[in-house]
Amino acid sequence: MRYLILSDIHANLEALEAVVEEARGSYDEVVCLGDLVGYGADPNAVTDWVRSNAAHVIRGNHDKACCGLEEPTLFNPMARFAVEWTYDKLTDDNRRWLRDLPQGPLDVGPFLMVHGSVLDEDEYILDSRDAAQQFPHMFERLVFFGHTHVQGGFFLRSVNGQPAEGEASPEGLEFRKGDSLMVNPGSVGQPRDYLWTAGYAVYDTEARSVVYHRCPYPLQEAQDKIVRAGLPQSLADRLAVGR
Ligand code: ZN
Repeated sequence: MRYLILSDIHANLEALEAVVEEARGSYDEVVCLGDLVGYGADPNAVTDWVRSNAAHVIRGNHDKACCGLEEPTLFNPMARFAVEWTYDKLTDDNRRWLRDLPQGPLDVGPFLMVHGSVLDEDEYILDSRDAAQQFPHMFERLVFFGHTHVQGGFFLRSVNGQPAEGEASPEGLEFRKGDSLMVNPGSVGQPRDYLWTAGYAVYDTEARSVVYHRCPYPLQEAQDKIVRAGLPQSLADRLAVGR
């Protein structure tokens, strides 16, 4: 089974469509790690696509805020503006669907899905020190996470009988038996790793391999839509720098 792993699409339809087009034929099922909406100009089109195409979806912090489940008190003013804009734009049906999304961790068999971390859906796993706190709670499982918008991964595995921690290479990594693995596919719609291209990953359960991808998309179109929608200019600008 080959899974297309998507996270943090953030209502960027241009990025989502480019990823789907590029990945066509390379996967059997889609999963989504949350933050479908917030920041971008197409919350309904993105939500509709995920509703009809993803086998498993969990909620992110922006989904919670944008459907009215949680007050965006911890959001910066720009993000809060986007939350309120998105809340108004979402159809009642999509708002209801987002409200009903499960919270991670969600065990789908070959792996666990979380938005932030195994212990807290709103926690940021930014470096190997953060990941090390997770390993004791993972029981040698593969965990896909998002939230940081940074493509990458962390592992704890046995090397010559000794436990060794490390980070994924830019191409991807292998999930060996006995590994504890935290993998972030990157953000489809608002990367923050200084690359503007859409991030995603494909996991092949037979090869036990995670492969990272970066996909160019019509950036200008996504930016123009954000500005035309009356969303903050800075939300359009940051897409170009991947930050
Ligand atoms: Zn996000």
